[in-house]
This record gives sequence, C-alpha cells and structure tokens, in this order.
Amino acid sequence: MGKRIHTRIETIDPHRPDPKVIEKAGEILKNGGLVAFPTETVYGLGADALNEKAAEKIYAAKGRPSDNPLIIHITNMDALERIVTGIPEEARKVADAFWPGPLTMIFDKAGIVPYGTTGGLDTVAVRMPDHPAARAVIDAGGGYIAAPSANTSGRPSPTRAEHVAEDLSGRIEMILDAGPVEIGVESTILDMTVTPPMILRPGAVTREMLEDLIGEVAVDSTLGNADSKEAPKAPGMKYRHYAPKASLVVVEGPPEKVAGWISSQAVRMRQEGKKVGIIATEETRASYPDVDVKVAGTRADESTVAGSLYGILREFDADGVDAIYSEAFDPEGIGTAVMNRLLKAAGHQVVRIPEEA
Ligand code: AMP
Ligand code: MG
Repeated sequence: MGKRIHTRIETIDPHRPDPKVIEKAGEILKNGGLVAFPTETVYGLGADALNEKAAEKIYAAKGRPSDNPLIIHITNMDALERIVTGIPEEARKVADAFWPGPLTMIFDKAGIVPYGTTGGLDTVAVRMPDHPAARAVIDAGGGYIAAPSANTSGRPSPTRAEHVAEDLSGRIEMILDAGPVEIGVESTILDMTVTPPMILRPGAVTREMLEDLIGEVAVDSTLGNADSKEAPKAPGMKYRHYAPKASLVVVEGPPEKVAGWISSQAVRMRQEGKKVGIIATEETRASYPDVDVKVAGTRADESTVAGSLYGILREFDADGVDAIYSEAFDPEGIGTAVMNRLLKAAGHQVVRIPEEA
C-alpha cells in the first residue's frame, strides 16, 4: 500500500454546503486527488473520471479489482452528450423521469472517457445524483466525477461519513460529512445498450417504475439466482460484496415462524458459547431472546430497512459476533434491492421455513 496521507474531514450542511469547503474539494479533484462525499444512495469516493491516473487512485484506495468499472457522476444532460456516443430515445425518457436520482444508465462510451475508468469496457455507466452536496462537488471538480461507494472493497457500502473514515482514513485527501444518507442502497443500474433495456442491479428505481415509462425491461437473470454459473453482466456484481465478517444466514417464511426458528437457533448457539446477532424488524423484536438483536426497520415500509442494513452489518463486525441470522424481506419495491444486497452479504445462505411447520 502507498504512504499514508492526511485525511481532512469537513462537516457540511447537506442542503447548503459551505462554498469554501466545496471549492477546496473541487481543487483536490482537479489536481487528481480523492474526495469522499455524500449522495442520496451511499457515500461515494470521487475522482476526476477523465483523468486516468486519478481513477487509478480509486482502485488503489479501495483495493478494488481493476476490471470493476466506475460510475461517472454528472449534473446535467450536456455533460452526458460529451461522454457517450449516442443517447437512445428511451434513455432520454428515463432521464427525464428519474434524473437527478438513484439511477445509473449504461451507454456506449465516447473517446474522452479513459479505459481506466470503464475497466477496459467500450461502455460507460453514468448517474446524475440529486444530493445538493454531491452536485456541488461534481461541478466544482470539473463535471465528470467517477464515484464508486467509498468503502474498502468487500465491506458494506458506507451510509455515514464515519463508515468512510473507518475504511479510508489515511488513503484519501478529504471526507465531506453531511450525516446519514437518505436511501442506503446503491443506485439501480439499467443497461441501455441492449434491447429491451436490462436491470443489472436493483435499486430504489424499480422495474415496475421503469416499465410504466418505457415498456418491457429485462432483469439480469443471474441476480436472484444463487446457483447461476454465468457471470453477472455488471462486472462488480460477481464480487463478494457488502459482506460482514461473521457468517450470515437469511431465513424466509411467515414472520412469526421465522422469528421462532431463529430464536431456537440463537439459544442453542448461545449455549455453545457463540455470540449471535439477529437482524429483526419492529414487528418481531419482542419475540427474540436476549442476544445481539438489531432492528432494521418496519415491514410496513421497507425503505427503513434499506436505510439501516449496511450500518447494521458494520455494527455486527464491531460487536464481533460469530453468526448472524436475518429475517427475509418482501422482494417488492425497494425490497427487491434490500433482498439482493442481503443475499449477497449472506453468500446466498438461505433457510426456508414452510407455512405448515
Ligand atoms: P459501485 O459504484 O461501487 O456501486 O459499483 C458500480 C457498479 O456498476 C459495479 O457493479 C460495476 O460493475 C457496474 N458498472 C459500471 N460500469 C459498467 C458498465 N460499463 N457495464 C456494466 N456494469 C457497469
Ligand atoms: Mg460498491
């Protein structure tokens, strides 16, 4: 690893970031340095996307495999025109409806985008975020900012500046702290270079929302399928991601039965001297024994679970638990993204409790 550098941490107002701080962040980016900043999805690790050397620093700081391409963040449609070779009509519709917002689209790349940013691909992933601080940083940094999640590769994505500091202190020039993010899971990735367009990673913008707008949308078939031998189409989705240190098992079935099964499992493991963690919901909290139980949110609104999942996985790492059991969630709406990340974190270890058990 390279030599340690001083990481400046600046607290900013998410809606009205201090222009002096933004200016400093912009200077660092224009000089080829790294700045972590909040977006509405998770914290991103920014570098000038058109400067190959700067993009390389992202891979080094994160320990990210170099074939895992970066998403370029922009703030306006003129910027999009400059980094892609053509914008399909459907992509304009999707941009009109969901940009700025938690959606990334894949296009054929223009010559000015270095292969160091796209992991050697002729396509490029682009997102226009909505977070005011993110937008200010992107503009100050020259308008084209590569920004993967600001975590060490293989750890859960950061939803707070503290998570970024945990992973990247001493490796990057600056962290902008605007408090916890709003959504908590990464953007939906939609590949516009294929017909019909295909979702490569589920996020807050759902298949239903996209189909209402542009008709048929496919979903990468390897995503929900633990046994698939095929590589996912987004290179990054093949890596063990989002993963806690302890083994994690997801338990599906009727919530009361799931809580009962996890409880007996937890009691047995506690008797064996093991430290057990449980990811519960407000609805089931009271039915668990006295082990490390964390409430992820409410089943009535799964966006609460999206918001807390990564933070909880990090807390379990800090608590040093041996095993984690998590309730499964409804794979509807944002729940599709929650289950995708949870199953990846679990390495697809799933237990199914039947209705009649
Ligand atoms: P992250 O920014 O860390 O959330 O990861 C970015 C995700 O976007 C990874 O899963 C990448 O594989 C995916 N991605 C970026 N560029 C492309 C591309 N040109 N084609 C397909 N997937 C991409
Ligand atoms: Mg990531």
